[in-house]
Amino acid sequence: MTEPDHDCGFCPRLRSFILDNRKRHPGWHNGPVRTLYPREGLQAVELLIVGLAPGMRGANRTGRPFIGDHSGDLLYATLGAHGLASGSFEADTDDSLRLEKTAITNAVRCVPPENKPSGTEINTCRAFLSATISQMESLRAIITLGKISHHSTVRALGGKVSAHPFGHNAHTSIGGFELFSSYHCSRYNINTRRLTPNMFNAVFADVIRFLSRTQP
Ligand code: SF4
Repeated sequence: MTEPDHDCGFCPRLRSFILDNRKRHPGWHNGPVRTLYPREGLQAVELLIVGLAPGMRGANRTGRPFIGDHSGDLLYATLGAHGLASGSFEADTDDSLRLEKTAITNAVRCVPPENKPSGTEINTCRAFLSATISQMESLRAIITLGKISHHSTVRALGGKVSAHPFGHNAHTSIGGFELFSSYHCSRYNINTRRLTPNMFNAVFADVIRFLSRTQP
């Protein structure tokens, strides 16, 4: 089971937040956000990007990870610059957006209040992250965006966080995959210049070098 049901209730606080949002914004997605795959399907995925959780007015509104808010602008522009995405996204899911050998998901699939999932919620939703990773037979590299995503992915791969610490533009081998980490491309990190487009670009350049060096 790689994707939660639209009415997943494993995390009562997040479920209640989503139900409130369904009343406030009835036209929005307001549910767990599914992994976005290339058109060729999950077996074509060589690179997985793991964010933290859906943004309130981004993925929680549109139903697609990193689509509809500021953090997605930098992510999709960077993917496009490295040949990992093409086209543009619109409200219609049948738009021209295409991912190339890349999938995008979140460590926590439901929008949390104030963008802050609890430890229990992160641990609970990891079952879906682990299942998603285990289904990707061609997967070789993972990029984690932010410390929470990094820690949850390390644990999903059966590793210890102390042995694979988070660091911007750091990478480590774990569970047969190369795990690259980056500061999250959130509006806050971009506005404070904790993460610049050049810094983000450097992470993807390393990943592309790794993928070309290790062609299957
Ligand atoms: S965060 Fe994950 S486990 Fe928790 S309710 Fe949402 S989909 Fe279910």
